[in-house]
Amino acid sequence: MACSKETLINHGVKICPSPQTQGRGLFTTRSFKIGDTIIEEQPLFSCQFSWNYAYGYSACDFCMRPLETAEENVRRLTANADIILPHPECDETDKSSHIICSQCAVTYCSIECKDHAWNQYHKTLCCNMLGGNPNHPLEKLNEAWKKMHYPPETSTIMLLARILATFIQRIDREELKCQLMSLCHHTANEEDTIAHKLLGSEFESQLELLRDLSIKALGRPETDEFLTPQGFRSLIALIGRNGQGIGTSAFSVWVRKVSENDIDPTTDSLIDTIYQEMEKESGDFLNNEGSALFAVQSACNHSCEPNSISSFPFSNHTVALVASKDLQEGEEIFISYLDECVLSRSRHSRRKFLEENYLFHCNCSRCQLEVDEPDMTSDDEESMEDD
Ligand SMILES: [Zn+2]
Ligand SMILES: [Zn+2]
Ligand SMILES: [Zn+2]
Repeated sequence: MACSKETLINHGVKICPSPQTQGRGLFTTRSFKIGDTIIEEQPLFSCQFSWNYAYGYSACDFCMRPLETAEENVRRLTANADIILPHPECDETDKSSHIICSQCAVTYCSIECKDHAWNQYHKTLCCNMLGGNPNHPLEKLNEAWKKMHYPPETSTIMLLARILATFIQRIDREELKCQLMSLCHHTANEEDTIAHKLLGSEFESQLELLRDLSIKALGRPETDEFLTPQGFRSLIALIGRNGQGIGTSAFSVWVRKVSENDIDPTTDSLIDTIYQEMEKESGDFLNNEGSALFAVQSACNHSCEPNSISSFPFSNHTVALVASKDLQEGEEIFISYLDECVLSRSRHSRRKFLEENYLFHCNCSRCQLEVDEPDMTSDDEESMEDD
C-alpha cells in the first residue's frame, strides 16, 4: 500500500521490506542517539477495555487520559479513603477541562477530545440514553464480548465498533480502508488462529454471535463488506494482532513528576508503601487499560534484542517510539513484543510464545546467537507458560 509512505521519510523513518521477517519493517532515514524520540504518533483508533471501564477505571473516552486525580486513584486502588497524597502540584489531572457527552454521559478530558470523538465515530455510537441502556444493540454487543473475554484483557469489541462507526461517518472511506489494510496481511488460516486465540475454544459460535450483534448495532451499506463472515473474521484478527496495549494512571504520572523534580526524598518510602497497598487490594490491575491501532508504529518488527521502546509520555494514547540504543541511518527499528518477564526467558520459551501469539518464528540477532541453546524450558518457565 502506498499510503503516506512519502511523508514518513520527513519524520526520520520509512516503511520498507524487512530482510529479517520477509514482511515489512520500520527503518531510520537518519541517525538517532539513545534516548531520542524517533516518532510520536496518534492512533487510527483506540479504546479502553470493556471490563476495565466497567470496573470504574476512569479514562477519557477518546484519548484514555486519566480522569481521576492521583489521590482519588490511590484511594480507589488501595480501598483506603484516608490516604493523603502530598505535592498536589505534581498531579496533572485538570478536572476543570473535563466535559461530558450530554446524551450518553461518557466523559472526555477536553472539548477537543469530545469533538474528535463525535466527528470520528461517537455521533454513530452515542446511545442517546443517560446512564446506559442494557437493551441497546451496542450494549448487547459489549456484554456478549465481556462474557467471552474476562480479564486480563487483550482487546475489546468496542475497538471494532469504533472502526465500523468511523466507516459510517467518514467521507473518504477508501483512504481509511487503505490504512487499515496496510496494518497487516494475513492468510485466512492465520486469521483463524488469531481469532481463535482471542475468542477461545467456542470460537466459531462466538464469532457468529459477535457478527450477528455487530450487524444489529452497526449494519449499514457502508459496513457491509466488514460484516460478511470473512470480512468480520479479518477485522477480529486485525484488532487481535495489531492492537498495541496502552496503560495510563494518574498516580504513575504523579510518581514520574515527583521523581523528575527530585522534590522530596521522603516520598520514596510513601510511594513504595502505596504500591504495596495497591497490589494487595487490586493485584496487577493498576492502570486504565486499552488498545490502539497505529499506522506507523505497527510496522515495527519484534526483536528479542530490541533497539527501541514504545512509551506513552503524555499519559494518553499518543505513542512515542524511543531509541534504546544509538541507531545508524538505514537501520531497522525493533521493539519487543514480549514483556520483561518473557523476554528474560530462554530462546525456546521466547520463540514458543511468539509462535503461539504472533504466528512467526523469531530469527532475531539474539535468537541466532543463542541457536545452540538446548530446546528446553525450566520447570519454572513451564508452569508460567501454563497460566
Ligand atoms: Zn482526552
Ligand atoms: Zn454520547
Ligand atoms: Zn528472537
